[in-house]
Amino acid sequence: MTDSIVMEPLGGLKRTCYCGQVRPSHMGTRITLMGWVQRRRDHGGLIFIDLRDREGVVQLVFSPDAPAVHAKAHDIRSEYVLAVTGDVRMRPDGTQNTGLATGLVEVAVTELKLLNDSAPLPFMLEDDTDVSEMTRLKYRYLDLRRPSLQNKLVLRHKVAMSTRNYLSENGFLEIETPVLTKSTPEGARDFLVPSRLNPGAFYALPQSPQIFKQILMIGGFDRYFQVVRCFRDEDLRADRQPEFTQIDAEMSFVEAEDVITVMEGLIRRLFKDGIGLELKTPFPRLTYKEAVGRFGLDNPDVRFGLELVDLTETVRNCGFKVFDDTVAKGWPVKAVCAKGCAEFSRKDLDDLTAVAVSYGAKGLAWVKLTAEGWQSPIAKFLSDDVKAAITKALNAATGDLILFAADKPSVANTVLGRVRLNIGNRMGLIPKHGFNFVWVTEFPMLDYDETEKRYVAVHHPFTAPMDEDLARLDTDPLTVRAKAYDLVLNGSEIGGGSIRIHRSDVQSKVFGKLGISEDEARLRFGFLLDALSFGTPPHGGIAFGLDRVMAIMTGSESIRDVIAFPKTQKAADVMSEAPSTVDQKQLDEISIRVVKKKAE
Ligand code: ASP
Repeated sequence: MTDSIVMEPLGGLKRTCYCGQVRPSHMGTRITLMGWVQRRRDHGGLIFIDLRDREGVVQLVFSPDAPAVHAKAHDIRSEYVLAVTGDVRMRPDGTQNTGLATGLVEVAVTELKLLNDSAPLPFMLEDDTDVSEMTRLKYRYLDLRRPSLQNKLVLRHKVAMSTRNYLSENGFLEIETPVLTKSTPEGARDFLVPSRLNPGAFYALPQSPQIFKQILMIGGFDRYFQVVRCFRDEDLRADRQPEFTQIDAEMSFVEAEDVITVMEGLIRRLFKDGIGLELKTPFPRLTYKEAVGRFGLDNPDVRFGLELVDLTETVRNCGFKVFDDTVAKGWPVKAVCAKGCAEFSRKDLDDLTAVAVSYGAKGLAWVKLTAEGWQSPIAKFLSDDVKAAITKALNAATGDLILFAADKPSVANTVLGRVRLNIGNRMGLIPKHGFNFVWVTEFPMLDYDETEKRYVAVHHPFTAPMDEDLARLDTDPLTVRAKAYDLVLNGSEIGGGSIRIHRSDVQSKVFGKLGISEDEARLRFGFLLDALSFGTPPHGGIAFGLDRVMAIMTGSESIRDVIAFPKTQKAADVMSEAPSTVDQKQLDEISIRVVKKKAE
């Protein structure tokens, strides 16, 4: 602060419009704006200030003809907070900025109040700033002033509003469920909250409102929704947050088709209201088996080809030990044919092999189809007939690269699915624009966890088996399909749900299959089992990850960009420095003693 300009109170002054809303239609009127100084330019006589608020920027002009305000404007710096009154006029010819919504006009300032000054900034508030994300997160309030973050949060608000409007118009009621709750298994670790009044007992923060929304159906609330915060204590990957927002919904007296139809309507509405895009529905569908068979993953990116081909029959008894052993175990041999990739270097192949190994493969067999024929470490093990059959099955030609996986189905598919994505990115096969939706249906109900030596639910334990498969729950549980569906957008799962088990006896049986003893089921889910026994309607629902939908809708690299106050990969808020230690007194009150882990 210099001496010539002092801070003043608002003193009853009222804003008449946002900076970003000034238009030629305001010409000749006197307006009052309030906002932050984006930039000041001193052109000898005239001083220009770009004043910014959440709707955009407008150019202010200070002329030496109004000496008092002109003198004040001299001392204004970036991010000072101003209230100005002035006259809107058209910019002189040749100085218009058609790239800016307010670029045809400017405001000739007649009065200026400095509402507050600002310390020098730790970084420039520009959209293409190269300052580290940690610094931006530490000063999140400054980062939030950047138009791109502001626009994303404004859009998020619009989408949340449209969600409420659409669901409400379709008979859904927004009902809140508890945050201090009993653990709901969604496959992740719970965040626990100690109970002061019940020493040694804990609440869990909800991983989702799953059980409560089902109980609302039992309570007769027919159609429920919530835009709701959920908490999962997971090791964070790039697109995860420990707390995140779901659009959570549940409906009674419905089958999977009904949920899918209503929710396609919701997604259509969100893209229409959000970004003016008319999506075509119904969205395409793949069964889980097709998705995994063709794309290797249950969240298939169907924006490009490079599909997996099953070569099991082609290589049966081919004499190459690795393939023969795999086939003998009843496992598949699969491959992808990367068109034009025979030029890949040693390093490219090493990178792809590293991807394969990180998903459980022992290695990655490859073949380059060159003018001289097969160039490959495995070429010598295969007869010309088998080679020809493989080439044919893959529709491969000179210049192509073939990559193989021979393993148990889950590994072979995942490995090639990941290799496929890697090549898709490398070769620029994935379109940068557009929204490609696909429903994945008929998920298996159970998976077998080799380490825990027990069955686990693929979705969650409340998912209903398909009626025609129910009888196999005892005899062949891994072949039982669930009435479950995921919505995948551009290769990311943006939502998932299912028809639920609505009979107490079936739910008990499924708990049993999951290795949850009757006693344990009583202890953890007794209230649900009781509730199910009192006239539960058939019901089902879904939850969409709002953060992920917004990240994809806005083309953001990270979901952190669509959350006002996100956490880092270490689950920390670097601005407020949460989590933090607490006073001994607080710990004593909740009967907690902290035991430091010994250094490994
Ligand atoms: N509760 C599930 C989840 O959070 C969604 C659902 O089944 O409705 O993933």
